[in-house]
Amino acid sequence: MKLDTLIVKGIEAKHNPFGAVVPPVYLATTFVQEGLDGFGEFAYSRGANPTKQAFDELFAKVEGSKYAFSFGSGMAATAAAFSLLKTGDKVLLNNNVYGGTFRYVSNVFASQGISYEAVDDLNLLEEKDIAENVRAIFIETPSNPLLRVTDIRRIADIAHKRGILVIADNTFLTPYYQKLFDFGVDIVVYSATKYIGGHADAIAGIVTVNDDALAEKIKFARNTFGGIISPMDAYYLIRGLKTLSVRFDRQTQNTHKIIEFLKSHEAVDAVHYAGSYSQLEKQIQARQASDIGAVISLELNEKYDYKIFAKSLELFDLAVSLGGVESLICQPASMTHESYPKELQDKIGIKPNLLRLAIGVENADDLIADLAQAIKKAKI
Ligand SMILES: *Cc1c(COP(=O)(O)O)cnc(C)c1O
Repeated sequence: MKLDTLIVKGIEAKHNPFGAVVPPVYLATTFVQEGLDGFGEFAYSRGANPTKQAFDELFAKVEGSKYAFSFGSGMAATAAAFSLLKTGDKVLLNNNVYGGTFRYVSNVFASQGISYEAVDDLNLLEEKDIAENVRAIFIETPSNPLLRVTDIRRIADIAHKRGILVIADNTFLTPYYQKLFDFGVDIVVYSATKYIGGHADAIAGIVTVNDDALAEKIKFARNTFGGIISPMDAYYLIRGLKTLSVRFDRQTQNTHKIIEFLKSHEAVDAVHYAGSYSQLEKQIQARQASDIGAVISLELNEKYDYKIFAKSLELFDLAVSLGGVESLICQPASMTHESYPKELQDKIGIKPNLLRLAIGVENADDLIADLAQAIKKAKI
């Protein structure tokens, strides 16, 4: 079955005993056991719940991985992956990642005796430059907010020679456009709050793995730290996932049109999208993913006031997050990447005039007209 069929039809019949067109939601926290001689599959909903289980099994099929574990947020999923690290370990990550991930590594690791290094360009990483205690490489590709692309195959080849885990955050492209297990990754994490749920009404995360031993550890972390998804939110993910392909194709088509418009506008200094940074990244992106997704960022030149621009938009709401059906705009420097020290923001290029767009499913011509009128009002 192709992915766009699987997302609609992939729920196992055993999760749906009466053949309802949509699966039931099991809200129960606890499950009656037959006797002390044998316990059933479900005991207590923190550990396992049928609705959560239905989503996890569905998502594993969609990812093409052996296991998927839903979590109460993308950050809970990332934290579960980071729980595999021990005192003395070091983590490398690309230097523009989700602000919450950076907040985690820059605040939590120190108290656990774990170190990290935010690397400028992981595509230039050489095996000889990797310290002895590096235990994991965490990659967001394309990255947030500058849409830099990392060659996962190359990193995985280097890392695996040294027994280093490769963890990737695939929130921006989802398995519909990018299947990272094909390129040697060990763990893929998602904020399902974004394109998987797709409607800005459920916070959730997912960890996917192939390896049995890693799966046991992630399952242990979920049950022990308790960062679970509620059955109702698991249901929202099942519902949202069904339209992933139609939503995401439309959002991405809109994005290509908007990029063309912005590139041709004299007010625009730079447009960042997956593969725009260099010829090399363009090639990697084309090899690794089937399209660019629907997050871009832009910089207006100094003849335009970016604050007036952001305020004048009528169809792009000023809000953090992405992946819902509505278009959003935000300023990464103050809204999503405020956990980055100012010097690091400057070094990476998270400037005040860098604005991130999350493109929705609205009509592309309407979105372009809205951008055009707001640019006009922003002229100084
Ligand atoms: C939003 C996001 C996260 C965190 O997910 P939450 O569901 O908000 O906890 C992690 N990574 C990326 C790339 C994100 O966009």
